[in-house]
Amino acid sequence: MDNDQLMQRDLGVLWHPCTQMKDHEWLPVVPIRRGQGVWLEDFDGNRYLDAISSWWVNLHGHANPRINAALKDQLDTLEHVLLAGFSHEPAITLAERLVKLAPEGLSRVFYVDNGSSAVEAALKMSYHYWRNSGKPDKHRFITLSNSYHGETLGALAVGDVALYKETYQPLLMEVLTAPSPDCFEREPGASWEEHSRQQFRHMEALLNEHADTVSAVIVEPLVQCAGNMRMYHPVYLELLRDACDRHGVHLIADEIAVGFGRTGTLFACEQAGITPDFMTLSKGLTGGYLPLSLVMTRDGIYEAFYDDYENLTAFLHSHSYTGNPLGCRAALASLDIIEHDGVIERNRTTAQLMAEAAAPLADHPHVGEVRQHGMILAIEMVADKARRTPFPWQQRRGLDVYRHGLANQALLRPLGNVVYWMPPYVIEPEHIAHLGRVTAEGIDLATRG
Ligand SMILES: *Cc1c(COP(=O)(O)O)cnc(C)c1O
Repeated sequence: MDNDQLMQRDLGVLWHPCTQMKDHEWLPVVPIRRGQGVWLEDFDGNRYLDAISSWWVNLHGHANPRINAALKDQLDTLEHVLLAGFSHEPAITLAERLVKLAPEGLSRVFYVDNGSSAVEAALKMSYHYWRNSGKPDKHRFITLSNSYHGETLGALAVGDVALYKETYQPLLMEVLTAPSPDCFEREPGASWEEHSRQQFRHMEALLNEHADTVSAVIVEPLVQCAGNMRMYHPVYLELLRDACDRHGVHLIADEIAVGFGRTGTLFACEQAGITPDFMTLSKGLTGGYLPLSLVMTRDGIYEAFYDDYENLTAFLHSHSYTGNPLGCRAALASLDIIEHDGVIERNRTTAQLMAEAAAPLADHPHVGEVRQHGMILAIEMVADKARRTPFPWQQRRGLDVYRHGLANQALLRPLGNVVYWMPPYVIEPEHIAHLGRVTAEGIDLATRG
């Protein structure tokens, strides 16, 4: 089997995610034979440095020997069992460990099986809490512009990326949207902190006006990843925590993309020193091995559901693969690596190397900004540097960078005009240097003419 044969078979039967399939008349599908560390290898023997951790899930490299060993052991013990009325050790141990590691006060773990479903569960839980507490009018959600929380209808409704959302608008619940604290939009000379503080006034105004009917505010802490890796200052989260408390509104922190060390701390909320009422986790949870997700919440919320059955206050939400043992076991192995190998500490050095490798790009005539939060580094290509005007989306400049990457041993998958690195944590200095070269050449090519 070679690439071409597999691509032909693929195009005969598959419908790929997030893809205009007609593009594949000229853009090859890349069939991957195997992965090893930061590398992916296709059926023609080409290698690609996985600079985006296979959609932000991989933490410790592909085919990690320690996660593999844990999974092989789990496979011979228990592959799956329902989690209603039954339990298993990996689910219990993982929950215990996460309660110890998560922001203080998040003491309950509700398992789900993918990121969007975790968001759905958190939204339902928040509303249901108010209903159980005699406040059924609190049924609306506040979200940030440019936010992303997944593709199922509830998650899509609380997101704000037009490309994914607009088509389905008639199907979606209405939400209140506050302007994002996104610091790319700051006035020249303003600091990230000043801008994020300024933007908070809009959130405060929305809460002032609507708190009586609002169930929760949902945010992606520090980085709006799918929204072109736009970033903000932790002060926004501090102000938001305080305002939610004052107004009697829940705070949902969607750490699906930023959790497990991506932004420099195990959880992004730590940088603001806050505890959300709900925290959703997925993506890096299993080290990038298996679909698993969960919602963490506080005792006070859990207790509002705890009652005699006849009162019908229980949270009757489930998915078939809720808390799958293989996923939990992979997650435990990933936590072992994070804790025993000092990964958070090591990431500090790696993030610094990434910053140095990308620094020269800041002077590029078509780069509007190079920004970073820990292990996420983004480079914004612009048509006009001084005014920071974007290239028209129809020109698909990012796709040129993607194709240049594929031809040069790098999997870069820009979001619109934004090229980013969000690599596995095992990335080495020489890999970063390679990414720096390929990215600079790609941006040169893509912004020419
Ligand atoms: C990816 C993502 C989701 C959705 O997770 P899926 O597993 O893809 O459904 C939700 N929220 C954020 C912040 C994400 O990045």
